[in-house]
Formats: sequence, C-alpha cells, structure tokens
Amino acid sequence: MKILGVLGGMSWESTAIYYRLLNQGVAARLGGLHSAELRLHSVDFARMAAQQAVADWDAAFTTLEHAARGLASAGAQGLLLATNTMHKGADRIAAAAGLPLLHIADATGVALQSAGIQHAALLGTRFTMEDDAIVRGRLQQRFGLKVTVPDAAGRALMHRIVFEELCRGQVLSASREDVVGLIAEQERQGAQAVILGCTEIGMLINDACSPLPTFDTSEVHAAAAVDWMLGDGSPS
Ligand code: GLU
Repeated sequence: MKILGVLGGMSWESTAIYYRLLNQGVAARLGGLHSAELRLHSVDFARMAAQQAVADWDAAFTTLEHAARGLASAGAQGLLLATNTMHKGADRIAAAAGLPLLHIADATGVALQSAGIQHAALLGTRFTMEDDAIVRGRLQQRFGLKVTVPDAAGRALMHRIVFEELCRGQVLSASREDVVGLIAEQERQGAQAVILGCTEIGMLINDACSPLPTFDTSEVHAAAAVDWMLGDGSPS
C-alpha cells in the first residue's frame, strides 16, 4: 500500500469524513484489520479562512507548501488536499513537496463522465464557484462538462452556510431547504447532477433530499485515493 499524505483541517469536519472514508475504503478492499497508511497535517482553519477572505492566497499556499514538504519527509508518496478551495494552489503545493497530487477535480470529472453527465451544477465556497482556476475550468477543459453555478445571491448563501455552519459542525434543516432550492433552480436550467464541490456539503445534502443526483467531492476524492494507495489509480 502506498502512503498517502493528507493536507487537512480545512475544515476538520470534512477531514474527519475523509479519514473515515479512506480507512473504510482500504478495509473494504483488503479485509480484516487493514486500514489506510496515512500521514496527516491538519492546519488551524481560522488562519487559513482569514487569509482566503482577504485574498492573501500566497500566505495560505506557503503554509500548505511547508506542510506538504513535512508530509514528504514523513514518508508520504502522494498528496491529497482535503478541500476544493485550496486546489487553487494545487500545482504549487505538489511541486514544493515533489510529490504527485490526487486532484479533486479529476476524481470528480471521472465520476461524472462515468455516469454520463454532461451538465452539472457546482456548489461550493464562493471562491470555488467564481474562480475557474480551482475546479470549474479543469472540469470543463479536461472532461468537456458544462458546469453552472447559482446566481450571486445563491452563491453568497452557499458560502455563508459553509463557513458559518458546516465548518463549525452545524447542520441546520432550514439551510438544507435553502440549498435544495438552489439545486432545484439548477435543475430548471438543465443541470443533470449537482457537484457538492465543498468537502462539507455532504454533511447537509445527499441523494435522499436533493432534486438532482449528487456527486460528493469528498467521497469521489477519497475513493480515487484508495485506488491510488492500492495501486490501481494514477494521479495526473
Ligand atoms: N472544505 C471547503 C472546500 O472544499 C472549504 C474550506 C476552504 O475554504 O478551504 O472548499
């Protein structure tokens, strides 16, 4: 089994989900008491979120570059960045560590393509929904997908729910109804599926409540990482 280095804490709520999925994935494949060979660097999200809010991306990337180098020194053979938003710096962070990085957009694109989806809605932080350099551009260019996002008010609502509720462990039914409304609007505009493009949204939304089939980026990303660890998945 290859050793996976996880950059987490963005937020720890979703890193906990990744930790469970990675271990369950390895146990399901290898059986018995097997579990995932991991190295984890978990950041203080308050500092990272403050840097994102003032667009000090360079400071945020520098923190993750240091962390990634530490994971490489501790024996990690590949990197998983357990957040969509910070994939804005994915190339830089991977290069600093000299390790392959399992890109969240590639795992998502493969899952959407395999399901025959051509038009997907994308929910996430406002950074992820508004900046093509995070995941949206890659989904469009590498996978030929049409990717649409809510209007400005919808994006602000989703962003607020991520930072003020989900990243603090609060899962509120009123917010679930609001997000279901955003998904329903995307369905009216022709989307065939919704990408839960923030690693906490799966805490709030799943196929049971969503008007569209959901593609949870933490789930598809963790599954791709398990494939890579067990030798049958290749990072791009
Ligand atoms: N976990 C979130 C994501 O997937 C947001 C946290 C962050 O801003 O890094 O984008």
